[in-house]
Amino acid sequence: MPRLSEVIAALENLWPAERAESWDAVGTVVGDPEQDVVRVLFAVDPVQGIVDEAVKLGADLLVTHHPLYLRGTTTVAASTFKGRVVHSLIKNDIALHVAHTNADTADPGVSDALAGALDLRVVGPLVPDPSDPDGRRGLGRICELDHPLTVREFAARAAERLPATAQGIRVAGDPEATVRTVAVSGGSGDSLFDHVRAAGVDAFLTADLRHHPASEFMADRPHSPLALLDAAHWATEWPWCELAAAQLDEISDRNGWGLRVHVSKTVTDPWTSHSPSPGAPN
Ligand SMILES: [Zn+2]
Repeated sequence: MPRLSEVIAALENLWPAERAESWDAVGTVVGDPEQDVVRVLFAVDPVQGIVDEAVKLGADLLVTHHPLYLRGTTTVAASTFKGRVVHSLIKNDIALHVAHTNADTADPGVSDALAGALDLRVVGPLVPDPSDPDGRRGLGRICELDHPLTVREFAARAAERLPATAQGIRVAGDPEATVRTVAVSGGSGDSLFDHVRAAGVDAFLTADLRHHPASEFMADRPHSPLALLDAAHWATEWPWCELAAAQLDEISDRNGWGLRVHVSKTVTDPWTSHSPSPGAPN
């Protein structure tokens, strides 16, 4: 049975902290390096519902994509919702480790998992990491479809293959246009629009797209892709949990650790219902 320090070292090897963005807060948030680890739970968000699930499961380590604290804090009092998370973790001997932008740019990383869920063939990163001589790491992925699909068909595939959320998939662009190449980026992707234009792909699938950037992007003919697809942020990052769990499982097997690795299926997208406008296009 490995100690937490050994498991963390393996996670750090997959997603080195120095590869995170300078504004990010990754690494171990809670945990005693000497504690033993048997059961590990992967999830997108370190929220109370996920911690409750980890307690119920008897997990020793929770690994999340999103940080608990991104900025400095002066309190972990249980009267704050993040402080309550810290209290629940410590009282139940559960460690918390975060792999965020260092998992986004990893090879394989968050967008590889997203591409895999959508049955896309990854060609390379959308924004290559200049520090990677092999050009395999970076933000987002440029991908090809095995067979051309219409925008409508590709959106339907995304809705079917990604975990179900109230939002589903929002589409901008002609639903009958043909898609052969796609850029994907798990999480908020509107900062990548210039790279998407430069990549010359037919469509871009990401999350958290706002009115003005999306509107200006779609109006920029003929430089922009034919279509934008906006999925729920959580749904675009959840496939990484399965990928990451499989990676840790493999490491556990190789080292004879006998870890029990789980992936939370709890939907932590903040949007919980959706009322379509009567008569709206679908
Ligand atoms: Zn995210």
